Amino acid sequence: MSPIPPRLIRNIGIVAHIDAGKTTTTERFLYYAGKSHKIGEVHDGQAVMDFREDERDRGITISAAATTLYWRDHQINLIDTPGHVDFTAEVERALRVLDGAVVIFDAVEGVEPQSETVWRQADRYRVPRIAFVNKMDRVGAEFEAAVSSMRDKLHAVPVCIQFPDGAGDGFAGIVDILRPAYLKFDSRTLGRDIGSGPVPERLQGRVQSMRAELVETVAEFHEPLAEKYLSDAAISEEDLMAAVRAATLQRRVVPVLSGAALRNTGIQPILDAVCDYLPSPPESREVEGIDPRDGSRLSLPSSSDGPLAALVFKVVAGSSTDLFYVRVYSGRLRSGDRAWNPRTGERERLRRFLRMHADRGTPVEEVEAGDIVALQALRAATGDTLCHESQPILLEPIRFPDTVVSVAVEPRTAADRDRLAQALDRIEREDPTFRRAVDPETGQMIISGMGELHLEVVLRRMQREFGVEVNYGKPRVSYRETVGIAATGRAEFRRQVAGEQLFAPAEIRVEPLDDPGAALEVVSEIGDGELPRAYLAAILDSIRNAANGGGTFGYPVVGARVVLLSAGYDDVGQSEVALNSATHLAFREALRSARGVVLEPYARLEVRVPEDFLGGVVKSLNQRRAVVENTQFARGGVVVSGVAPIGEMFGYLTVLRSQTQGRASLSLEPLDYRPVPQNLAAAHHERLID
Ligand code: GDP
Ligand code: MG
Repeated sequence: MSPIPPRLIRNIGIVAHIDAGKTTTTERFLYYAGKSHKIGEVHDGQAVMDFREDERDRGITISAAATTLYWRDHQINLIDTPGHVDFTAEVERALRVLDGAVVIFDAVEGVEPQSETVWRQADRYRVPRIAFVNKMDRVGAEFEAAVSSMRDKLHAVPVCIQFPDGAGDGFAGIVDILRPAYLKFDSRTLGRDIGSGPVPERLQGRVQSMRAELVETVAEFHEPLAEKYLSDAAISEEDLMAAVRAATLQRRVVPVLSGAALRNTGIQPILDAVCDYLPSPPESREVEGIDPRDGSRLSLPSSSDGPLAALVFKVVAGSSTDLFYVRVYSGRLRSGDRAWNPRTGERERLRRFLRMHADRGTPVEEVEAGDIVALQALRAATGDTLCHESQPILLEPIRFPDTVVSVAVEPRTAADRDRLAQALDRIEREDPTFRRAVDPETGQMIISGMGELHLEVVLRRMQREFGVEVNYGKPRVSYRETVGIAATGRAEFRRQVAGEQLFAPAEIRVEPLDDPGAALEVVSEIGDGELPRAYLAAILDSIRNAANGGGTFGYPVVGARVVLLSAGYDDVGQSEVALNSATHLAFREALRSARGVVLEPYARLEVRVPEDFLGGVVKSLNQRRAVVENTQFARGGVVVSGVAPIGEMFGYLTVLRSQTQGRASLSLEPLDYRPVPQNLAAAHHERLID
């Protein structure tokens, strides 16, 4: 099969709060597009896209799965992402390589905390999107309220291109505002057959007013429509589609659709909207990177005739070979081609390309700019670039958040010890938000990740996939430290080495930044030419490493600026080693006087609870040092929001459920680092290093 023209490709992600219906919707996409012959349901553990055993057990998506389907001559490369915040990195990397997104909302809940998170992520990556208000069949579903919450909470400009007829049990069909037409989905054919007819009399008024509203909103972004609007000329469906497309690509509006995935209602129009309103790769933002030879900025349009630029955005580790998901931004890939990895400096022969469908792949020979495929037998890691050595580019890497929770694991037997090492190797290759280290004091293996659920999933995987039996401790948070006051440290390094006298003095100041959780800054105030440039860069790097390795309490130092004030050497004993040692000593000295402060991770918290339980829940939150900032009475309960130390929230979901007869929901999202209160900091002082 010849490659599909790039303008007919859509790379899209499905993003939403957990349980909004992403996987359920994706399963329908596959069915209607003829990719699967029956509909797999999440609650039966049968969803094609949730193919991992742990996903099927839990009924949630953990790792983003990719698939390709064909709809109206278009090739849609689709990534179904997890909603739980512990797996937010999966969403992050998906959005980084996708051109558009379908954001799903629950018609009862409206905008939920993770909908806000993914929305912000999509903003950050400038991803145009369409919205689907799902679960219109649920009791309490309210289309307008969900749309308003997009306006209020996301500051989006939603434009309804359809609206549902009825809600809950009375949800009967969908009104297409552009045509206009009334769509009925035949339940006997699982929604495959769609009856399209005139809009009934009773809905005419509403269609007219919503169409007028739509015209008014999008005319601004499309000259031809604006002219027709101003001259009162008749406006066709095509006029409107063109204007909605233009406004969506500029990220000025978000077209809104609705339906009920579980009832097989309203799904095909989402696929139509993906083709009609979301960008093809050439229409997408240019890809940015730097020239690794001189650090100058480069940006490349999406073109198969351009220089090769492809990004490895996901690694699935296997026992024999790993699978590397790659987005080709520019140039084309043919099997047998050579490519160059600017991070490692290694040359690669590209062998097998696979077009992925969940866990299965079909070989392809050639891939054009804009496409997404998986490669085998590569020596690369997530975030690496593939390019040609003669026209090198280093694409902007994917940013992943720091880990906040860790747990000590202990293999049960000697055999488990070996298997543990293998399992951790593989998990580490796949998951950029997973870390492991050996505690220098206890010799224990410490694994860390994004949250309790993340680590729980890792532990279960070790047992099931790798057959490793481990004992593990209580989860604990990852602490950081900062400095309380500015302080300066001076040190000299003087030593006789191999008959030579080495000497180097250094002076370093550390000072707190306004935000205690901010990233560490390491700068130099040494006059020009006092030190060779290469020396200076190496010294600053080594200070940065020392600070990451631990400050006075042994935790990574953040929220501070480290300033190298002076560093010198005798011409006689010129030595980088001496300089390094002197700066390390000076840095330690400065930290000692800077009144270290231990920081703990905080999360943004949202609890939804029926009003009757409010008092008890607020009390239990206070006991956990949570700060309630807002209590909002909404339909069906109260939304309590605020911040809380993550360490105090371990196991809180269980407490909350038993406190409310299972009727509360909890969302925690890592937010920032804040000082541990004085009375609790004592425990950390035992760790003081001098
Ligand atoms: P995800 O976490 O966003 O992937 O959500 P899932 O697709 O796993 O769906 C979460 C739950 O909501 C499952 O039990 C689905 O059966 C259910 N669900 C999905 N769509 C609908 C819908 O349209 N109506 C109703 N009533 N339930 C739905
Ligand atoms: Mg899912």
